[in-house]
Amino acid sequence: MLINWRPTRRSWLAVFATAALAAPALLTPASAQDAAPAAKMPVVATFSILSDLVKQVGGDRVAVSVLVGPNGDAHVFQPAPADAKKVADAKVVFVNGLGFEGWMDRLLKSSGTKAKIVVASEGVTPREMAHEEEGDAHDADATHEADAAHEHEGHEHGGLDPHAWQSVANAKLYVANIRDGLIAADPAGQAAYASNAAAYTAKLDALENEVKAAIAAIPPERRRIITSHDAFGYFGAAYGMEFIAPQGVSTEAEASAQDVASIIRQIKAEKIPAVFMENISDPRLIQRIAAETGAKIGGEVYSDALSDDKGPASTYIDMIENNIHQFSSALSS
Ligand SMILES: [Zn+2]
Repeated sequence: MLINWRPTRRSWLAVFATAALAAPALLTPASAQDAAPAAKMPVVATFSILSDLVKQVGGDRVAVSVLVGPNGDAHVFQPAPADAKKVADAKVVFVNGLGFEGWMDRLLKSSGTKAKIVVASEGVTPREMAHEEEGDAHDADATHEADAAHEHEGHEHGGLDPHAWQSVANAKLYVANIRDGLIAADPAGQAAYASNAAAYTAKLDALENEVKAAIAAIPPERRRIITSHDAFGYFGAAYGMEFIAPQGVSTEAEASAQDVASIIRQIKAEKIPAVFMENISDPRLIQRIAAETGAKIGGEVYSDALSDDKGPASTYIDMIENNIHQFSSALSS
């Protein structure tokens, strides 16, 4: 039957049409739709944790530069000329916001950048600072009014806790903001950014379940933790842990002798089992508190920065897993 088959004009057209439709699918691998363009889009993230989230969403299409690298302290960062160059060359600059990068406005201005600025924490419910640690003379009520006035003036001290990334639920908001910012700057990458963000958000969902399970396994009366600066407020509020810190939400000011003495009294009175060192902070304060109270040092946790590639917290997910592992092993009885 095939031997006798003679192509009519119409059947030849059909063959050509089918070949034309089939050719691109045959010659091009399915993943090519997501392939990176020849030149990656240069973007900047202000600190290492945010940089990892941007890499997860940006994938092959972006080249991410970071200003405050692994183990660096963004609270006391001083930009160098090389940082202004990175910002000047960027198409998008990702910042945390919530007053975290007090040095950023000046850097943006001095760099002359035309980059789109994306505030990764947009949409987060901000946590008020636990206590005033700016060293100003005004009392608590006056501070509150002053903060409200500051907001109207666009002043950088809004009295907010910037460490929103320590809640995994907030990290999912960061990812959505990063995705939208990348799509706005590079519409051709829309499908890739959306699919990367969705895949990574699924990993964050699993991570958050891990966190909740780990906390649930710690006896409630032992869910109290001392760290040197107050970076875990969002984590504590989201997952039911109490964090106490001699320094406030910034590392700019030293803890006062009174703050340290009052924490030492509290650890003894409440029999708080462990104190934790942070990768970005001088360990001596925590070591002294441990020595004076008999609380054990529960290992190193990552608050404001990732570790380097060889460390246990070189990505956001590894950082959260490391921290819950440290909390669990020190606090589970
Ligand atoms: Zn901090």
